[in-house]
Amino acid sequence: MQKENVVIIGSGPAGLTAAIYCARANLNPLLISGNQIGGQIAITDEVENYPGFNTILGPELTDKMKEQAERFGTRFEIDEVTEVDLTRGAPFHIKTYGNEYEAQSVIVATGASAKRLGIPGEDEFIGKGVSYCATCDGFFFKNQDVLVIGGGDSALQEGIFLTKFANRVRIVHRRDSLRAGEILITRANANAKIQFVWDTTLDAIEGNGKVQAVQARNLKTGQVEKWETQGVFVFIGHFPNSQLFTGQLAMDEQGFLMVDKYMQTSVPGVFAAGEIMDPIFKQAISSAGQGCMAAISVERYLEEQHDKAFVSQPFNKF
Ligand code: NAP
Repeated sequence: MQKENVVIIGSGPAGLTAAIYCARANLNPLLISGNQIGGQIAITDEVENYPGFNTILGPELTDKMKEQAERFGTRFEIDEVTEVDLTRGAPFHIKTYGNEYEAQSVIVATGASAKRLGIPGEDEFIGKGVSYCATCDGFFFKNQDVLVIGGGDSALQEGIFLTKFANRVRIVHRRDSLRAGEILITRANANAKIQFVWDTTLDAIEGNGKVQAVQARNLKTGQVEKWETQGVFVFIGHFPNSQLFTGQLAMDEQGFLMVDKYMQTSVPGVFAAGEIMDPIFKQAISSAGQGCMAAISVERYLEEQHDKAFVSQPFNKF
């Protein structure tokens, strides 16, 4: 059993920032990154609203944060957490595919994953025309016709990115007004390859080995039409990756972890940061800020535990 002061679970902006702060506080943090380093930002094309960078590619921003965390001594494990036991207090028990850890404190920064439409054909055609990542898959749709589902910032940002490859990008939104910010709306409207389709959802995705068509329903008229298309990119929001903590940490009805103003969860010594606890702001910079707050709280929590132990066991050499 490997013993740790603090284990950070997750490697998006929240986890990486927590790692930078924990490392600078000499806590010798271990960060368990998941299968790949970086959360949603690592599969985002251009980031234009992270202070300090006019524009930076998502993977580059991730690399810079990782380098910074490593420079101060963060250790990275590329592995997935399969089980946690947080119920008996510190030390907390964390199991990955490759190892087991006992941690005096934990920062949960497991982020969020793309929501699915839940319609026939969606699962069948993932990787064969259905995608949740334009940066990863856009290249495969050169000169093709694709649909983007959603009306938020992601749908517009990724839709604009897809125009680098596709001939036509139809953004299909279930209402007739967008949730996205003005800058992206203006850019999308100015892009000749983008068309908006309002008040419409998909009933099904069809094809033969790969996507060939969809059944699209106009929600105002009820009319269903078959449209030919080669790609369906789904950007309809995210759900928190909190399944591991069910029954152990308090969550709201959507599964977001509940924290106090120190970013502490319902279990003392376990803190959370980023989209796992944030149903509202969901920005790279707000996640980074929450990661910083969680790390400072961990530092204070461990100091307090150390002081208590020192008072009750005066001969204990800490
Ligand atoms: P979002 O803001 O939650 O938007 C999700 C969109 O999907 C909404 O338009 C929603 O429709 C639609 N939708 C939800 N469920 C649907 C369903 N079952 N079928 C069809 N449509 C559905 O999610 P997001 O765009 O991923 O953005 C998440 C957060 O990241 C936001 O805070 C956003 O500002 C931020 N973000 C920022 C940037 C940037 O600043 N450049 C880029 C990307 C993301 P309704 O509008 O009808 O609810």
